[in-house]
Parts: sequence; structure tokens; C-alpha cells
Amino acid sequence: MLLRDFTQKTKPYMAPSLWVKLGLNLLFPPRCLACGCHVEEAHRFCTGCFAKLAFVSEPYCLLCGFPFDYDLGEQALCGHCMHNPPPYDAARTVLRYDEHSRHLVTHFKYADRTSHMPAYAALMARAGAALIAQSDVIIPIPLHRKRLLARGYNQSALLAYGLSDRCHLPVWPDGLLRTRNTPPQAGLSRAQRLKNVVGAFRVNHDYADALRGKSVLLIDDVMTTGATIHHATNMVLGAGAKAVYVLTLARTIRD
Ligand SMILES: [Zn+2]
Ligand SMILES: [Zn+2]
Repeated sequence: MLLRDFTQKTKPYMAPSLWVKLGLNLLFPPRCLACGCHVEEAHRFCTGCFAKLAFVSEPYCLLCGFPFDYDLGEQALCGHCMHNPPPYDAARTVLRYDEHSRHLVTHFKYADRTSHMPAYAALMARAGAALIAQSDVIIPIPLHRKRLLARGYNQSALLAYGLSDRCHLPVWPDGLLRTRNTPPQAGLSRAQRLKNVVGAFRVNHDYADALRGKSVLLIDDVMTTGATIHHATNMVLGAGAKAVYVLTLARTIRD
């Protein structure tokens, strides 16, 4: 009886959450994630910005996710993976890393745009659905403690938690530890980057037993040469993980 009264009373009215949403929209009009112009709904891009973003979609290399111009079949590998396969089992990304996505990532990283996290996590959940389905646990690429203190947050850990909210996989935020504060990778050649990250990570001993036999989803905001991801993958596999999948928000796609 009580239930029926409740439904009869509330049905003709707008749900309270909708009123709250409308009120919030009036107070804080939703803005485009990239340019900040007004948009209809929160956590969205305006049409102009959306059109500029280079989303990576199928067909792509089964291993590294490199996009192909033509469909070469589900099992197709790019030339790079055929000759020099990466240590991870598969990698996927939402966006090609270019001037537009760089703007998003830089703001997310340095300008405290942490409110953009749910939108980015939603895009990553879609791009990485197949990898998420095969993973047991999410581990973000860590920041060194000094950088974490300076910035206040690890953008990759934020994305990992956002993904976890959607796919309900556990996050081990300190599954990997940064043992060395590596100089920024920007401006270094591929060889220099590889050298720069050697010994930069180790698996947290607290997870040593739990990690064995698990499939791990590594999360990073950006992958450029892959040096960081390759090293982190090797550490996780070396500690006994069964498989490593990599999901990033943006990634350099070689021409
Ligand atoms: Zn915009
Ligand atoms: Zn490939």
C-alpha cells in the first residue's frame, strides 16, 4: 500500500535528481571538456572540439592497437608487432596523441581538471571493453612520491578509479612503486627514454602473492614511445602475472 501511494504520488512529478541536476546546471552550466564553451550536458565535448579529436577505432592491430586504414581481419598484426612484439598482451587507447589530445591531457595533469575524470574514464571503458573483460585487477602507472606531493594527485590513478567505478575491477594504486624519480621523458629520444626508465619501477612486495597468475590492466594517461609501459609490463610479468593489458587515454601513433 505504502509502495503504491509512493509511486502514485511521485510519478507525475519530476524525479528529485532531475531537479537537482537542473539547479546545478543553472548554477554551474556544463562546459565543453576541451574549450570550456557551454554545452547541453556535463562531461561532454562541444561539436567543434569533438570533431577535432582523433578517436582510435577498429580496425587495428590485435596486439598494440595501431589503427589500420583497411580491415585486415581480426587477428591482423602491424608490421612493428610482427617483427618486434611488445611485452604486453594487448594495448588500446581512446585518442591519438596530437595537439588536441595533448591539450586535454596537460590540463588534466597540471591544471587540476580532475572533474574531467569521469568523462575520460567512460571513454576508456568503451575503448578498452575487451581488455577489461579479460582483466582481474587495475594497476595505474605510479608517480614518484616527490611529484605526487607537488601535483597532489596521480592522474593515472584517478583514471584507474574512474574505470573501477564502471567495471568493478579492484584497483591496486600502489601495486607498482616508482623507485626512482626519472627526469621528464619529453624531449628524449626513444633510446634515451628506455634508458631513463630502467629500474624506475618495482612491484610492491605487499601484492607479490596476490599478483601471481592474475591478468593486470595497466592504466596510463599517455603512451608515447612506450618505454614506461614496456618497463612496467616487464616488472609485472616478472612478478608472476599471467597477462598484462594496457589502456591509455591517448597514445602516439607512428605514421
Ligand atoms: Zn569545445
Ligand atoms: Zn601492433
